[in-house]
Amino acid sequence: MKAAHCPICKKELSERAKNFPFCSPRCKLIDAGNWFEGSYRVEANRADTPWGEN
Ligand SMILES: [Zn+2]
Repeated sequence: MKAAHCPICKKELSERAKNFPFCSPRCKLIDAGNWFEGSYRVEANRADTPWGEN
């Protein structure tokens, strides 16, 4: 038997979890948000704000 755990909140999942590999739609959204924010930050850091501060 192997136990799966939600990568967001580390809660143990049942094999039939609807939102596998997440425990809930909330954690699924949090994960998606992490990815989105991460890539957004990378873009923001790359941009040199050529228009300066307004
Ligand atoms: Zn979770």
